[in-house]
Amino acid sequence: MGELSPSGNVQVSDVLPRRIGVLGGTFDPVHIGHLRGALEVAEMMALDELRLTPNARPPHRDTPQVSALDRLAMVECAVAGVATLVVDPRELQRDKPSYTIDTLELMRAELAADDQLFLLLGWDAFCGLPMWHRWEELLQHCHILVLQRPDADSEPPDALRNLLAARSVSDPLALKGPSGQIAFVWQTPLAVSATQIRQLLASGKSVRYLVPDAVLAYIDAHGLYRASN
Ligand code: ATP
Repeated sequence: MGELSPSGNVQVSDVLPRRIGVLGGTFDPVHIGHLRGALEVAEMMALDELRLTPNARPPHRDTPQVSALDRLAMVECAVAGVATLVVDPRELQRDKPSYTIDTLELMRAELAADDQLFLLLGWDAFCGLPMWHRWEELLQHCHILVLQRPDADSEPPDALRNLLAARSVSDPLALKGPSGQIAFVWQTPLAVSATQIRQLLASGKSVRYLVPDAVLAYIDAHGLYRASN
């Protein structure tokens, strides 16, 4: 704990840097691959908070099947009662494409200079990084934690090989400072995707146990992803 100054305030220099994780996604819908990965990383990395940030209009992919409000509501149901996992709706409040660099700049501006920001990316998302808007600036604002994804077997593009050679460290717990490095994190491999869940629902099958019960209840109550939609 920090000591009290004569004014009774905690000395800023004595306060530990905060450790904040960010997992962006379409969450169309959120599923156990996102949630279990997020929770395991939050615990393993001793994060103060892991923010799930649903994308409004993803620049790199098709329009989500259900409304932004439904996707947000499902993420909120999914993390209710889990103290470390929080929902950050800021990308849905923007009337622009959701570029991760913009979100990170905004978050960084709200944090202390030595607070640590960790961007979580599944391996597939990491491999697509060179197509992202201003992707080379991302590491100025955050570290990157890459989650293995058992259903993704792509090779990284050349631009990322160079970046990995220059910036990766083998132990995620050894990531130092507020930003600038990359590490791979192990989590329970779960070969679940939102695509698979949408397909199951469209063909009238159950997605029980692939999403939290509260998300299943929301999908059923609103008739989402069924063939008639
Ligand atoms: P879709 O099938 O619609 O493409 P998705 O299941 O990949 O969706 P997204 O919302 O696009 O889900 O993913 C958000 C982030 O979570 C991405 O970084 C993605 O790589 C990661 N992710 C998604 N599913 C898994 C999983 N099963 N294991 C690890 N990471 C995952």
